[in-house]
Amino acid sequence: MRQCWLCGATGIHDPLDRHHIFGGANRNKSEKYGLVVDLCHEHCHIFGKYSVHKNAEIMRYLHQWGQRKAMRENKWSVEDFIREFGKNYLGSTFRPELMFREQEEESDEP
Ligand SMILES: [Zn+2]
Ligand SMILES: [Zn+2]
Repeated sequence: MRQCWLCGATGIHDPLDRHHIFGGANRNKSEKYGLVVDLCHEHCHIFGKYSVHKNAEIMRYLHQWGQRKAMRENKWSVEDFIREFGKNYLGSTFRPELMFREQEEESDEP
């Protein structure tokens, strides 16, 4: 079932849009690596106070989430990610060991 990445809604009241996590020049790469999310059209995607296109903090969080997802799924280092997308979104506070812990937890799932 499709769900809004931000609020978890299923599109009954506000239709879901597909949003490329990394747009512009990286839009095709977002598509290629599956870095797309569903978002409620009005509230969470474009117009709402906390929508990704209106709220810089939410956008930053989504970029970080997307980078971690890409690194995990492709077994990339930060450098590998920069090679593909041209930028590191995780900032200097990023600690790889947290990502590896997340990876272990996920491997328990079927
Ligand atoms: Zn969008
Ligand atoms: Zn939503």
